[in-house]
Amino acid sequence: MTDETEADLTGATPRRRPRANVESIGGRKLRPSTMMMGHGYDPVLSEGSLKPPIFLTSTFVFPNAAAGKRHFEGVTGKRPGGAEGLVYSRFNGPNQEILEDRLAVWEEAEDALAFSSGMSAIATLFLSMVKPGDTIVHSGPLYAATETLVARILGRFGVNWLDFPAGATRAEIDAVLTKAATGHVALIYLESPANPTNALVDVEAVAASRDAIFTGENKPPIAIDNTFLGPLWAQPLKQGADIVVYSLTKYAGGHSDLVAGGVLGTKAHINTIRLMRNTIGTICDPNTAWMLLRSLETLELRMSRAGENAAKVCEFLAAHPKVQHVGYLGFLERGEDARQADIYRRHCTGAGSTFSLYLKGGETEAFAFLDALRIAKLAVSLGGTETLASHPAGMTHLSVPEARKQALGITDNLVRISIGVEDADDLIADFEEALKAV
Ligand SMILES: *Cc1c(COP(=O)(O)O)cnc(C)c1O
Repeated sequence: MTDETEADLTGATPRRRPRANVESIGGRKLRPSTMMMGHGYDPVLSEGSLKPPIFLTSTFVFPNAAAGKRHFEGVTGKRPGGAEGLVYSRFNGPNQEILEDRLAVWEEAEDALAFSSGMSAIATLFLSMVKPGDTIVHSGPLYAATETLVARILGRFGVNWLDFPAGATRAEIDAVLTKAATGHVALIYLESPANPTNALVDVEAVAASRDAIFTGENKPPIAIDNTFLGPLWAQPLKQGADIVVYSLTKYAGGHSDLVAGGVLGTKAHINTIRLMRNTIGTICDPNTAWMLLRSLETLELRMSRAGENAAKVCEFLAAHPKVQHVGYLGFLERGEDARQADIYRRHCTGAGSTFSLYLKGGETEAFAFLDALRIAKLAVSLGGTETLASHPAGMTHLSVPEARKQALGITDNLVRISIGVEDADDLIADFEEALKAV
């Protein structure tokens, strides 16, 4: 039976292409948490399978030779807009395409790309934007591997960098951008909140500064690492960023069982980055993409619960006599830093669930606390369903020079905590007992 006769019998429209996505109902724009269950996938194309199958294939069959040529024109950038169909699995696959469509939904981005890790996303972004002699202006501190990539690795290829502190004012940002503008600035790269200081970057001020200092062709795009608060609690495209990058390993993946990255932004920027990804093959694999689709279905549930848990746990910790200070974004409103509180109000819809706990004492006290935890796991990383705790001075930031450690507040009494989705009172019991061991 042809599609036509089938359509005649059922009265349905014949369909060989995916059904159009449902993005609104009765004039109501659907929320991302609803769209995660179906957007970008039509079961009719996969034997009616409710969930997308995992497409394990290295290559795709062309319907005819001319279509094959057309696909390659898209993939290689000879024709703008990218490939119209699937060609080869280093470029893309069905699972990754569904994932990319759904990632873009969260921040209302024009387009998105999936990567094999947060670092491969960041490296591909940099490689697609810079050439020898260019400058990258960035906020500081950055995730350690990103700092290594900018300063040591791209530095070997003649790329320069200049930075301003994450909490910088408009005047401080202006000064750094004005200095950088004497050369060619390829990219402004931000990370907010900074780890482990939790300092927020004023993205609106960075965008205003960029627009005042650069014109036309010389205007560098603004990219920002949104791993800690995105996509639920911060959406920097709305404050003037052009590109958002993610380690999807963290909250987006959310179960500490995969490593992946993402980049979101305007079609033009994403096409530039896609050409580099097509060339070097930093896309994530189909199985990881499938796991991420499952993760995105519960993203809002998980992040909301983790955020609520963190608020309760931080209230408990802040009032504890053995605690010196809790660096939690939710406390900005009651702190002394009016400027950071102002950025928080303008840029964030939640305080996240990752924070800094400064105990009274030093390494001995921090280690005693960490070793006494029974629910929270002693591990680096963040954003998983389980609560994690680590010691930055002795672990993630061990090789950072002493002076820089002091400047960043990475002291021996600092414990980094990422709160998960357990019962909040169980977590408080765990922390209360562990503090008795200090
Ligand atoms: C973890 C992390 C990265 C790197 O991501 P991977 O998935 O480990 O490659 C980058 N930026 C931030 C803020 C991170 O927390």
